[in-house]
Amino acid sequence: MLPETTEVLIIGAGPTGMALSIVLHQAGVDHVLIDRLAQGLQTSRAGVIHAQTLETLQPLGVTQRLSELALKLQNFAIRDRNRALLKLDFSKLPSRHPYLMMLPQNLTEQVFAERIAALGGVIHRTVEAKAVVQDADGARVTVIENGREKLISARYVVGADGMQSLVRRSTGIEFDGAAYDASFVLADVRLDWPVGPTEVSLFFAPAGLVVVAPLPDGSYRVVATMDDAPEKPEIADIQALFDSRG
Ligand SMILES: Cc1cc2nc3c(=O)[nH]c(=O)nc-3n(C[C@H](O)[C@H](O)[C@H](O)COP(=O)(O)OP(=O)(O)OC[C@H]3O[C@@H](n4cnc5c(N)ncnc54)[C@H](O)[C@@H]3O)c2cc1C
Repeated sequence: MLPETTEVLIIGAGPTGMALSIVLHQAGVDHVLIDRLAQGLQTSRAGVIHAQTLETLQPLGVTQRLSELALKLQNFAIRDRNRALLKLDFSKLPSRHPYLMMLPQNLTEQVFAERIAALGGVIHRTVEAKAVVQDADGARVTVIENGREKLISARYVVGADGMQSLVRRSTGIEFDGAAYDASFVLADVRLDWPVGPTEVSLFFAPAGLVVVAPLPDGSYRVVATMDDAPEKPEIADIQALFDSRG
């Protein structure tokens, strides 16, 4: 049942909102976590977690499980065709996590959700925030659940609602930063890959960049700059990238 009052209302159960929920659970702070989606997205998004992020996540009690699901890589290379221009060895990082942790974002989110459940928490799904109004005591947030409008009063509201954040727009916070000019194509594919599943490779080519990174399920994440990148690339699009740049 969706509470009507809370100390902290977190809008958005992506990695940011879920990480905050875990921290607030651990600190014993009353909060409510909502998301408009019925379940987390299963699309390809972030694929690597770096050492410093893992150190930050350590107190949340998720790194062991992330580690079990992930592929850990120590090698990164910048290549021109099959010639290595630069090689980096992550095993030399002064960290308890001296590697690149390859893990698709949907699995990272699954681990965070499991941790919230283990702490006795709930993600209130299919609850969409529609309006945020601040007053002297905090904020009132209008949400829609099962087609019905409800009001949640919170001392604090956290906008973890992603790129098009309603919270940011409602509170008049400017988008502080810049968007990339380049357009990117992204695909998770099965490859006959001579480099093998032990290295993240970045290819420099006159036509643009290509990154090839192995994933834990044996597939490879391919990301490349591309003018007018197709939203749903075909095999031929990816093969053409390798033929011209890889
Ligand atoms: C194609 C693609 C590839 C990417 N690749 C990488 C990568 O390689 N490396 C990397 O670091 N990052 C990558 N990213 C970016 C990464 O996915 C985001 O930085 C990350 O998801 C941000 O997490 P978040 O929790 O802040 O927001 P989000 O993941 O966007 O989560 C926001 C959540 O808020 C919910 N929400 C939004 N509005 C409302 C509302 N009004 N009411 C209720 N719920 C709401 C949404 O349903 C969503 O679940 C990629 C993104 C995309 C799209």
